[in-house]
Amino acid sequence: MNNTAIVGVNWGDEGKGRIVDLFSSDYDIVIRYQGGGNAGHTVMNEFGTFALHLLPSGIFRKNVVNILGNGVALDPINLLKEMKTVRDCDIPISPENLKISSRASLLMPWHIDLDVLEENRLANKKYGSTKQGIAPFYSDKYQKKTVMAGEVFDDELFMQHIEDLLAWKDMIIRAYGEEEYTKDRLKEFFEAIEEIKPYICDVTLYLNENRDKRIMFEAQLGSLRDIDYGIYPYTTSSNTLASYAPIGAGCPDLKLDKVIGVAKAYSTCVGEGPFVSEMFDEEAEELRKAGSEYGAKTGRPRRVGAFDVVATRYGVKVQGCDAVAITKLDVLSYMDKIPVCVSYLVDGKETDEFPFPSKLNKAEPIIRYFDGWKCDISDIRKYEDLPIKAREYIEFIEKGIRCPLAYISVGPERESIIYR
Ligand code: GDP
Repeated sequence: MNNTAIVGVNWGDEGKGRIVDLFSSDYDIVIRYQGGGNAGHTVMNEFGTFALHLLPSGIFRKNVVNILGNGVALDPINLLKEMKTVRDCDIPISPENLKISSRASLLMPWHIDLDVLEENRLANKKYGSTKQGIAPFYSDKYQKKTVMAGEVFDDELFMQHIEDLLAWKDMIIRAYGEEEYTKDRLKEFFEAIEEIKPYICDVTLYLNENRDKRIMFEAQLGSLRDIDYGIYPYTTSSNTLASYAPIGAGCPDLKLDKVIGVAKAYSTCVGEGPFVSEMFDEEAEELRKAGSEYGAKTGRPRRVGAFDVVATRYGVKVQGCDAVAITKLDVLSYMDKIPVCVSYLVDGKETDEFPFPSKLNKAEPIIRYFDGWKCDISDIRKYEDLPIKAREYIEFIEKGIRCPLAYISVGPERESIIYR
């Protein structure tokens, strides 16, 4: 296997960072191919605990080259902050182990300002944006109104391009009742650009020259947040799916050898939008606490729910998964009865097909309860050593999602994993 994509099969926050961190030593190159600083991977390893937003999780491994591909929303200011946090823990970052695609578009400070202005305008109809500028960024990219990272090498053209865009953005920002948007607002951005310049290069060329290397593609968010196949409009603004990985990474002609999906042993969802198997009140609070379900980026309490077989099977299918890693099984150890959403009731009919997004609001969960195992499983490393009730839970889910559950994570630490 030379190349593998590791992707989320739910709503994001499945624990992808932890799974990528686990496998990254088997690869030479780790690439982020979409998204920006709007979500976070939490990685726990010998250096500490890190909430990575933009940096690929391979940054902690010696001899791994990390790439931010052309599909990424490149926010230079936040990238630098993140690099500093990682460097402060004595992890070296240099153009040798971090490369930024010259074709990645730059996320500008005005994208963040516009994100905030639009969410405020929408008030109680808001999308639940993390306000990192992602939606304004991608809409500008498809309007051909972003600046590509490689443009920074021609000072004159770069400044002219930014001034042209600024004149246009000023008009839009003023329509929200704001004051004139001037170049002064971009000071920190220009400073950050100078610092990231050495990392910008022709990533496609680099990847063409390194085709014999083992490549890992790292996704942000999950299947249900993909702009085309997710729960639109409560999606992100880019394609999170594995089939987009080679395009967003910089090697569009490459075929994936393997796709590993990451699912959580229960469901979580950040922000607005339909969430069929959602739990409420005390039941939800207990699970949220047990799983520490608070956003890596925003600290917001996450919505929690039962494992959703319907949504996860769909998520696995659209990713084209060869295997699934399930995380946080240990979190369920406190439960007497473990709920699983096995099908939906939509317009009075039971279905196990994932509905069209606007129908999801009408869907009601059909729940089946499994007996809990009620003991600590976090030290278990062999599948046969798991309590029978835990194995029953795993095997039911595996059958339901129609994909082998090859890896079971029972704790946040690198070694807390069961291979089947
Ligand atoms: P990501 O964006 O998909 O990487 O997800 P998050 O950033 O939300 O990470 C999931 C959180 O769960 C992190 O705090 C991890 O350290 C933690 N975690 C991952 N796997 C496990 C597990 O198997 N058990 C427990 N208890 N925590 C885990």
